[in-house]
Amino acid sequence: MRFLADAMLGKLAKWLRMLGYDTVYIPDADDDDLVRIAINEDRILLTRDLPLCDRRIVRSRCVFVNWGTTSEQVRQVFKKLGLQFSEETLFTRCTVCNGEIKPISKEKVASRVPPYVYRTQENFGICVNCDRIYWRGTHVEHVLKALSEQK
Ligand SMILES: [Zn+2]
Repeated sequence: MRFLADAMLGKLAKWLRMLGYDTVYIPDADDDDLVRIAINEDRILLTRDLPLCDRRIVRSRCVFVNWGTTSEQVRQVFKKLGLQFSEETLFTRCTVCNGEIKPISKEKVASRVPPYVYRTQENFGICVNCDRIYWRGTHVEHVLKALSEQK
């Protein structure tokens, strides 16, 4: 399942990427752009705009997202679409550019991560698109904790 988030939902887009979902976020896209991308790229449109979501052409592939914390919004989307959170898909999408993350050996990232991280982490990934290095850091633990507290 792939997503497209509207301009109001940048943080939700980041969290979905962190959870492994291919999520496009274009802050300056207008409503017609969003509809066109959702249809052409077969994506679920996530929006805070009810009239947009209710347009006939996009209604079947749109989720209206209510106010709330980002973790509440993630839960709304998962519930509406019947998705299950999976640890296995963590770190498969770059939170910055939505590129794919591939595993990379620890030796190769030695000069690119802080010494403490290198000492304490074993698994690393690299975004094939923007070259950013990923590991399971505190920001991920924070997201997982926020999501689990609501179950
Ligand atoms: Zn990237």
